[in-house]
Amino acid sequence: MSTMPQVWITGPGEVGVREAAAPLPGPGEVVVETAFAGICGSDLHTLRRGHPWLPYPIAPGHEASGVVVEVGEGVAPSRRGEHVYLQPVVACGRCFYCRRGRTNLCDELVGVGSHVPGAFADRFVVPAAAARPMPAGMTFAQAALVEPFATVAHALRLVGGVAGATVAVLGGGSIGQACLLGALASDAEAVVLTDPVAGKRERARSLGARAALDPTAPDLRAVVSAELGGRPDVVIDCVASPATVQSAVGLAVKGGSVLVVGVGHGPVELAIEVLQDQEVAVIGSAMYTAEDFDRAEEIVQGTASEQLVTAVVPMAQAAEGFALAVAGEQTKVHLSGPAA
Ligand SMILES: [Zn+2]
Ligand SMILES: [Zn+2]
Repeated sequence: MSTMPQVWITGPGEVGVREAAAPLPGPGEVVVETAFAGICGSDLHTLRRGHPWLPYPIAPGHEASGVVVEVGEGVAPSRRGEHVYLQPVVACGRCFYCRRGRTNLCDELVGVGSHVPGAFADRFVVPAAAARPMPAGMTFAQAALVEPFATVAHALRLVGGVAGATVAVLGGGSIGQACLLGALASDAEAVVLTDPVAGKRERARSLGARAALDPTAPDLRAVVSAELGGRPDVVIDCVASPATVQSAVGLAVKGGSVLVVGVGHGPVELAIEVLQDQEVAVIGSAMYTAEDFDRAEEIVQGTASEQLVTAVVPMAQAAEGFALAVAGEQTKVHLSGPAA
């Protein structure tokens, strides 16, 4: 039996590489040799506080690209050698939500990198449909970014797009910066981003934000309004703390929308008169569906998306990669595998 390095999170703050059996494809599955796999905010959440759905240990990794090296029974042998990226959530296709096309809300979701071992390994095994062929001209580094951009594409779709709209993004982590790029690629009139960390504001400016602001400054709403020529049509909250959700609702223009994209928990106090009298819609956005990946491919290839990757660390040194990501200065850390 051949073995390979695989990253496991075994408890709070505990992440390391173990030798694990190299996966074999079951019926309908493919084995992918990893090129790049991105460390996501949700992986850091799992490292700090556990996974929202599952107990430790977890073998994470859901933002990945690579090469199909083995195919299981029932999968076209011609897929061997195909360059692919991971669509890491497999919906059942049968439940109430799947029948209505809302596969992201599926009752029986199987997550690669959560329910089943993920892509922080030299190889990973997934249902064939979860390994999507890379479009022509896409690099492996770009392909490992399609999944986070699918989150962005989904959110923007929930508000009917942002063409001609003004947008405020709260939070300058990787999803916040991806929202900035996604909104600009979707013809937003202007985007401002807020983050307390100066380096993240600097990155947002370099990626095309009209302004990047410190949310702790007094009278944020007046400053944002001055930059955008009025309150934003759409506020995208990538932090999702009680304070940022409150701030987002207060920022949005009358009739505007607040998208809650960050993963938060617990109650938040909101002024009912703002929701009702000002018709501000607060909309949760959870993951994505297959069509969001089509749009995400366009955004990734049509923008400076690769600039989000600020560090690349070999898979065997994954613990160092996690430490870099935890330190908070990086936008996106990629772990590199043998197909890179
Ligand atoms: Zn992710
Ligand atoms: Zn379902």
